[in-house]
Amino acid sequence: MRATTHAYYHAAQMDRFDVLIVGAGPAGSFAAERLARAGVRVALFDGRPPGEPKACGGGVTSKALKAWPHLLEAVGRTIDELDMYSPSGKHLHLKLDEPFAVYSRIAFDTFLRERARAAGAEVFTEKVSGRGFSRILDKSDAPRPVAIAPATDNNDGWIVRTQSGAEFSTKYLVGADGANSAIAKKLAGNLPPAEMEVAFGYRAPLPDSGDAATVVAFLPNWVGYAWAFPRVDHVSFGIATTQDAFEHESLDALLWDFMVAYYEVAQGGNLRSMRLWKKSDEAQVNNLRHTAERYAARIPGLAPRTWDTRKACGEGWALLGDAAGFADPVTGEGIYYAIRSAELFADTYLKGAPQEYEKLWRKDFGGELKRASEMRQRFYGNFWGAPFTDRMIEFARGHRGIRKVLGELVAGDQGYVDLKKKLARSALKPR
Ligand SMILES: Cc1cc2nc3c(=O)[nH]c(=O)nc-3n(C[C@H](O)[C@H](O)[C@H](O)COP(=O)(O)OP(=O)(O)OC[C@H]3O[C@@H](n4cnc5c(N)ncnc54)[C@H](O)[C@@H]3O)c2cc1C
Repeated sequence: MRATTHAYYHAAQMDRFDVLIVGAGPAGSFAAERLARAGVRVALFDGRPPGEPKACGGGVTSKALKAWPHLLEAVGRTIDELDMYSPSGKHLHLKLDEPFAVYSRIAFDTFLRERARAAGAEVFTEKVSGRGFSRILDKSDAPRPVAIAPATDNNDGWIVRTQSGAEFSTKYLVGADGANSAIAKKLAGNLPPAEMEVAFGYRAPLPDSGDAATVVAFLPNWVGYAWAFPRVDHVSFGIATTQDAFEHESLDALLWDFMVAYYEVAQGGNLRSMRLWKKSDEAQVNNLRHTAERYAARIPGLAPRTWDTRKACGEGWALLGDAAGFADPVTGEGIYYAIRSAELFADTYLKGAPQEYEKLWRKDFGGELKRASEMRQRFYGNFWGAPFTDRMIEFARGHRGIRKVLGELVAGDQGYVDLKKKLARSALKPR
């Protein structure tokens, strides 16, 4: 008997679903919920070890909260004020018209996964093994690795194997397995290291004073920024930068200086006088070090050309969220795009036209993200002899219109496509 025939009959006996979704982050769980609610038989594979949060700042823009108000039911903290610092230390206090939320990723991911389960998705707390998926080959097909197999009319779907050896079959495979997606590598190809950003940081206690500011500080002489996002029971500190610029030792030292300055301010200092990047003394860092828990991960940061060429779906498969490369190359924000891509995919699948997903994500947010990637260098580059972010904060300090545009950018309501025009127009209005 030929191996393909064996695979064909074997598949007929295993647990078969309409859709298999690998990865229960925001993208996978949201898609699973939408599909299951409409009666689709969905399996959702959650490979994250229990109690291990996804490395993330956990910031969810007001644009996302407006689009999916139920996200506010997850336990989180609402943020309506933000302190921004320029690379040279200029300070801007922004009162946000539209608050955003900060979540612990355990709370956020659990909330979305449990909604998927309640809607009828079957959740398997198992990792799909590294090489654990292949096409089911029709009897007439010669055996071959499927990631490179052309789509055929007699394609009968996929077999997915988990690490415990269980096997599942499906017509439709969804890769929502994050920035290091094994499924994306096979089906859409590897991304070069330069198209990945790096983010790392520490989860540390809330300041004793209870006064936990939300801070974004653009880095001096580096692409990227540092953040302090207070959550319900801790603060998430971190730095996001490009893979090319990543120099662990120097950036780690910079982050500790930032953290020490943050706690100093919280203990009664004045935010306006927060001396960013001031070399902190060793004893202060050591004091903090034993209370902080480190995390690090990658975020996709696609180059402009890759946005035109990389596919997020094909015959019997689709990629969502980070697996598809859907994160903002300027800020690293990805949760909105994870959920939006899941929503667009689910809508097209339910219409019986999942191949339309490609066209829809491009139209919906693809242009914005490509524009962001074209702007990244300029955003972190120089403008009139100083870092652009320095100029931006300087102008915003003296100009209400520019502060408003910046607030909208933070809220996720202001895109990059018309950002320059909007800033120029605001600058011409009275202060
Ligand atoms: C340090 C850092 C800070 C960030 N801060 C923010 C922020 O503040 N706001 C924001 O919007 N974005 C932020 N991002 C980006 C954001 O985390 C991602 O864009 C978002 O989580 C993408 O969601 P996703 O569902 O596509 O993937 P993920 O959230 O990565 O979920 C994928 C899931 O798949 C699982 N998985 C992987 N392989 C398998 C397998 N073989 N089998 C089963 N399961 C598997 C993983 O364990 C994971 O749970 C940050 C990223 C980093 C690294």
